[in-house]
Amino acid sequence: MAGIFYFFPSRHSSNEKAVNRYTFSVKKSPALFLDRDGTLIEEVPYLSSPSKTRVLSGVPEALAILQKAGFLLFVVSNQSGIARGLLDEGRLLQIQAEIDRQLGKAGACIDAYYHCPHHPAVGIPPQRRRCNCRKPQPGLLDQAASDFNVDWTRSAGIGDDLRDLQAFAARDIPAILVGTGKGRRTRQKLAESKMEPALFVGHLPESVPWLRRLLSKES
Ligand SMILES: [Mg+2]
Ligand SMILES: [Zn+2]
Repeated sequence: MAGIFYFFPSRHSSNEKAVNRYTFSVKKSPALFLDRDGTLIEEVPYLSSPSKTRVLSGVPEALAILQKAGFLLFVVSNQSGIARGLLDEGRLLQIQAEIDRQLGKAGACIDAYYHCPHHPAVGIPPQRRRCNCRKPQPGLLDQAASDFNVDWTRSAGIGDDLRDLQAFAARDIPAILVGTGKGRRTRQKLAESKMEPALFVGHLPESVPWLRRLLSKES
């Protein structure tokens, strides 16, 4: 499912992309893999409307700091609403544009958006299928890594759902659990199975100091 379609051309216009890819091929970059719903934006089940898209408070400023510090920012999102026929790819792009607009006010910009439109059991083929991109599978992370030169040793993932953390674990990067969205329930579930994320924070912005330390690690 990797493809140019999954880019929203906000930071990399088509001309820039070739140049940036060359740069990335020389130098590996740390990456931050961000879940969308409940982590970046307010959780709205099967969100299909840009007007209901709300980036969580403090997130634009936090991402601007992290991006400046050197992280590539990737959104990796399960969007089975597409398989379910609740939204289409055009709507999804409008929502991404709205996220970009809200982040842009603080000077932050997502490098690339990746999503899984599939569901294994619901909807109509080709979206109804078993895929390797629906989290907990790590396929969306792999798509990003094939488009950019990712330094896995200095990368991390942030999410509110067990599936996010499992996808990050599958690529051996530290998983940060946020308390927003489904996060508190997820933390409870983890505790019951005696598991812990690399870091738990109430809100994404609280992870900034920890992530800055990760960057100072030798690659
Ligand atoms: Mg989520
Ligand atoms: Zn998929």
